[in-house]
Amino acid sequence: MKLSEDSGRHVGPVFEIVTYGLAPELVNEVINSVRLFSPEDIKLRHVSEVPKEYLNVIRNQYNGFLVSRWIATLRRKEDSVALGVLDVDAYVEPLNFIFGLALPTLNTATVYVTRLKTLASKDKLLARIKKEVIHELGHVFGLEHCRDRRCVMCFSNTLAEVDVKDYRMCRAHYVKLKEKIPGVSSELLLSQALNP
Ligand SMILES: [Zn+2]
Ligand SMILES: [Zn+2]
Repeated sequence: MKLSEDSGRHVGPVFEIVTYGLAPELVNEVINSVRLFSPEDIKLRHVSEVPKEYLNVIRNQYNGFLVSRWIATLRRKEDSVALGVLDVDAYVEPLNFIFGLALPTLNTATVYVTRLKTLASKDKLLARIKKEVIHELGHVFGLEHCRDRRCVMCFSNTLAEVDVKDYRMCRAHYVKLKEKIPGVSSELLLSQALNP
């Protein structure tokens, strides 16, 4: 853990968010989710397309690795955390689809919204996006998958599994995250008392 010594206050990571095809309330939810990691220094940009060269035309899905690498290149500062939240469908081999992908070596997380919209009310969609954003950012900061089904770091293979988990994390994961980001919001900690 390293605190800023000049200013006397913690300087958290810089986040650069890239969105594609999201309604304003979804963009707000993404920003609010990222704020739990870092209340300041969040940059936002919208793109008008995801390059077609990353589309696998046979599958009609985007290649998640290529899109992640592209998102990483859109950063203005190399040490920023890049987060792409895109209304497209994507995959990585050998999976049929992905809800999101984290490439910690590139400091990059990506969330794919199209599938999250399935049979979702607006509130449900907002909740799913929040969980997936926090999950993928958690990976960027070194968090592994969790066995606790309530923990946001639990792996989700289906929308039902996304819906059943919380946007917050178990104590072990929270402690690990706080070592990396001392200023992380305590809101991310699952309350044991409220979740027996
Ligand atoms: Zn994961
Ligand atoms: Zn956990």
